[in-house]
Amino acid sequence: MIQKMVESMSQLQEEKGQLQEQLMALQKKLALRESDQQAVSTQLQTQVENLKEKLIGQVQEVNRLRSELGGTDLEKHRDLLMVENERLRQDMKRCEAELQELRARPPPCSECEHSKESAQLREKLAQLQLETEENKSRLAELDLEVHQKTDRLAEVELRLKDSLAEKAEEEERLSRRLRDSQETIATLKAQPQPIKYIIKTVEVDSSKTKQALCETEARNQYLQEQVGMQRQVLKEMEQQLQNSQHTTTQLKAQIMMYESELERAHGQMLEEMQTMEEDKNRAIEEAFARAQVEMKAVHENLAGVRTNLLTLQPALRTLTNDYNGLKRQVRDFPLLLQEALKSAKAEIGQAIEEVNNTNRELLRKYRRELQLRKKCHNELVRLKGNIRVIGRVRPITKEDGDGSEAANAVTFDSDDDAVIHLLHKGKSVSFELDKVFPPHATQQDVFQEVQALITSCIDGYNVCIFAYGQTGAGKTYTMEGTVENPGINQRALQLLFSEVQEKSSDWEYTITVSVAEIYNEALRDLLGKEPQEKLEIKLCPDGSGQLYVPGLTEFKVQSVEDINRVFEFGHTNRTTEYTNLNEHSSRSHALLIITVRGTDYSTGLRTTGKLNLVDLAGSERVGKSGAEGSRLREAQYINKSLSALGDVISALRSRQGHVPFRNSKLTYLLQDSLSGDSKTLMLVQVSPVEKNTSETLCSLKFAERVRSVELGPGSRRAELMSWSSQEHLEFEGSLVQTPSSARSYSSSSSGTPISRSSSIRRKLQTSA
Ligand code: ADP
Ligand code: MG
Repeated sequence: MIQKMVESMSQLQEEKGQLQEQLMALQKKLALRESDQQAVSTQLQTQVENLKEKLIGQVQEVNRLRSELGGTDLEKHRDLLMVENERLRQDMKRCEAELQELRARPPPCSECEHSKESAQLREKLAQLQLETEENKSRLAELDLEVHQKTDRLAEVELRLKDSLAEKAEEEERLSRRLRDSQETIATLKAQPQPIKYIIKTVEVDSSKTKQALCETEARNQYLQEQVGMQRQVLKEMEQQLQNSQHTTTQLKAQIMMYESELERAHGQMLEEMQTMEEDKNRAIEEAFARAQVEMKAVHENLAGVRTNLLTLQPALRTLTNDYNGLKRQVRDFPLLLQEALKSAKAEIGQAIEEVNNTNRELLRKYRRELQLRKKCHNELVRLKGNIRVIGRVRPITKEDGDGSEAANAVTFDSDDDAVIHLLHKGKSVSFELDKVFPPHATQQDVFQEVQALITSCIDGYNVCIFAYGQTGAGKTYTMEGTVENPGINQRALQLLFSEVQEKSSDWEYTITVSVAEIYNEALRDLLGKEPQEKLEIKLCPDGSGQLYVPGLTEFKVQSVEDINRVFEFGHTNRTTEYTNLNEHSSRSHALLIITVRGTDYSTGLRTTGKLNLVDLAGSERVGKSGAEGSRLREAQYINKSLSALGDVISALRSRQGHVPFRNSKLTYLLQDSLSGDSKTLMLVQVSPVEKNTSETLCSLKFAERVRSVELGPGSRRAELMSWSSQEHLEFEGSLVQTPSSARSYSSSSSGTPISRSSSIRRKLQTSA
């Protein structure tokens, strides 16, 4: 037991030693903690001390700032400004009053320089007032600003106070906590048991304290920034204050200037008023003097007028009388006028009637004259013969060659230009035509002869001109001619143009042309689009018995250029159609048909004349043996148509009842240009050289026969028959002397046949 007790004692002892050791360690720890706590608390205390110092410094700073630039200064400044403003206001009021006074004064004069100046000054014043008003408003604005700034300052102060209070509070709190913590430490010291917890609390508290310290520092920072900002604002406000002070001084200077100006203006005004008053007085005096003088003159005038009035009264009386007379006349005037008009109308009517009568008479006379002219012309042409035959001998050319073959076989009669002698086979044969042109005759000479015929076509006659003869005898030369020396075709058109131009005052004419050819009895339009097309000759459907060719192109021509164009066109058409144009043209009849249509302006009379210019096919006979096929057919066609032409002309000239127009295309086409009072000219072309005498003889025989038909109706037909059948169907080598050829005579018996032929001509004429 004891042992147990000893054991337990030693155990307890051991435990006590352990506990003592633990207590020692704890005490050591506590001492360490305490020293730590001490250090922290001293640290905190020094920090709080520092903060306190800083706070005090800041409060002092704020106080200093307040005393330096605080509200009192600004307020003072504002008061000053207000006083200044008040003074300015009073000044303005005074100015206004003065102005009112000046306005109230009666205007010394109007429209004078001074008034203008014063108006200007007034304007200026108004302007100044306006400016003052502006300045006032600006001053008020500044006032407002100062007020606002003071308010803001007060606010800032308030905020500062608040923050100071907050700081003090914070300080208080901190010191309280310090005290608390000290107390806690003391209690902890007193009771070491809950040391652990206390230490923990202290630890926690110290961290909180640290945080609070940090916050306080941040707050301090913020306050310092605020103070800096406030300083800035203060500086700006100072600047503004300075600015407004500056403006105020400027405004003051301006007001001073205006005042002085006003004063000066006032002085000027007074002065001017005085001078104006003087002027006025002077002007009144002068006007009075002038008025007196004028009055005197007026009085004098009045006296003159009075005397004039006395003399005017009788004149007025006579004028009144005159006026009354005129009034009466005016009243009577319409009646008089009516009468005069009536008589004038009657006279004019009479005159018109007379003029109409004379006009009618003149027209009748004109028509009679026209008729007479036509009659005379007809008579002239009749005297010359409606059908005339003219011969033309071409000159010998290089183409005729030389030697005996090219020797000249033709001679002329120097006394009679209608006679031609031909030496044929040793015998001289003479022929009489209407006229014969020797080789030296020019184109113009020939044209001169046919001119009258051509112009008759303007009067509405139909005319045919044929060129007849063997190939190479000069038919184409006479009709077409050369470029330098044109023939009848072109000259005729030119003449027509000039004639028509001359008559243009009374007549309106249109000239159209057609170009055609007859080959192997087929009619072709050389101006048409298809020249190879055969055209038909038809009877007009109107029952007039007239013929026309449907589809035959007609070109209206007005100038030489137009003619040339038409001819060229026709020529081109013909050239493209035939490879050997010379040969072809000698075997076809070429026709140029010119139509002249006229209207008389005064009578409305219409005329249509046709001029047919025909270059016939070569009249040479083709040898029986040499001609075959197409050449023979050509020759037969040519023969037939030339015979038909001869027949028609003979029938016409001998005035037979039946004219065989339908025997060939040519005569059928030219029917209306050959019959009636139409005129025909046959130009017989001959070659003068020896080798052609046989053909020349034939041509001349044909010519003479055409012009000298003088047979009874019965035998005439027989003659015609023999002519066509014998002459033109004759072939080389079988030439037979026909009965008509007996009328040509040999040179040995010359003289009598001529007189005989002349007698025939005369007979024909009388019978016509
Ligand atoms: P045709 O038409 O009758 O066959 P041309 O008119 O072609 O004959 O004439 C044949 C040639 O004779 C042409 O070279 C032509 O220039 C010429 N000739 C014809 N008549 C005359 C004349 N009066 N003056 C000059 N040369 C002419
Ligand atoms: Mg020819």
